[in-house]
Amino acid sequence: MKLPRCWKCAHIFSWKQAFRHRDGETTCPVCGSVQYLQQTARWRSNFVPLIGVVLILALINIEEVSGLSYWLAVVGTFAVSLFAYPFCYRFTEQKEDLF
Ligand SMILES: [Zn+2]
Repeated sequence: MKLPRCWKCAHIFSWKQAFRHRDGETTCPVCGSVQYLQQTARWRSNFVPLIGVVLILALINIEEVSGLSYWLAVVGTFAVSLFAYPFCYRFTEQKEDLF
């Protein structure tokens, strides 16, 4: 998994820079060009929390889970999802619709 690059100057965004995009749009800190999230990157990033939800549901169905374990799994999934989002991103020069 790699962090996204600028489509123009190939600058590799830091995790914080990539995470801080707004509505799929950000600006390269080196060359100032506008970056848009690729359509495939949007789809990929939507699957990250979905995997966590499926794992939690599987955990609940496999074993009896105490309330504390359940909430630890929920919070852990949320934290892992937040951490993984920027690694799913790829930027392009043109705005692409989700569909
Ligand atoms: Zn750039």
